[in-house]
Amino acid sequence: MRLFDTHAHLHFPDFKDDLDTVLDRARAAGVRGMVTIGTDRETNAAVVVLAKRWPDVWATVGIHPHDAALASEADFEEMERLARNETRVVGLGEMGLDFFRNLSPPDAQQKVFRRQIDIARRVGKPVVVHCRDAHEDTLAILGEERAGETGGVMHCFSGDVAIARRCLDLGLYISLAGPVTYKNARALPEVARFVPEDRLVVETDCPYLPPTPHRGKRNEPAWVALTAEHVAGLRGADPEALSDALTANAAKLFRITLA
Ligand SMILES: [Zn+2]
Ligand SMILES: [Zn+2]
Repeated sequence: MRLFDTHAHLHFPDFKDDLDTVLDRARAAGVRGMVTIGTDRETNAAVVVLAKRWPDVWATVGIHPHDAALASEADFEEMERLARNETRVVGLGEMGLDFFRNLSPPDAQQKVFRRQIDIARRVGKPVVVHCRDAHEDTLAILGEERAGETGGVMHCFSGDVAIARRCLDLGLYISLAGPVTYKNARALPEVARFVPEDRLVVETDCPYLPPTPHRGKRNEPAWVALTAEHVAGLRGADPEALSDALTANAAKLFRITLA
């Protein structure tokens, strides 16, 4: 089984005591690559350190919509510097809109989102998009800022088939996380069947959102296997062949050559 976790937060304090063991379990489960995702200035520095330590960990730098109100000019400059100069930084984000929790005002979220797409286009790296209860605005901004030119992924996709189709039309990949395995998965099983095989990837978003049967625990990259297997079941696909295809998609999305 070859797997790739396109969205993890390995630098979070949840993993500080046993990250080596967590990564070994991931490798034993077949995970060939993981991308650890920055969310603010502090974590953007931390993800680069981690990605330099292991050949199978890469990083993205970004400002999460929750932190948008606190973003300063210096934060954008530092993010651009890392994205431009660090070869282990393979994308920008996570970035986007979160109108569910609204921890930053919507106008600050939109401004910070647009600014990061602009940086991504200028450094030529893909965007990792977070979207919660904000699909119309997110799609409008992605279109207006021509995110398709640099490519990217809708992480932890939470929309329906109609939204998925519009994301695909923009040239983005769709990433499914643990919630597709939940009993209350809503439209996600249908989305898992709908997205063409060459545009789909999977992720854990660990330490959050563990797939069934691990709900309530700390999530970790090894469990991306459970999400991939569940998606294969929904599609009536061979799990090993699908996992191989999803891994190849992830490498293409982040322009990574896997060993
Ligand atoms: Zn997110
Ligand atoms: Zn995340």
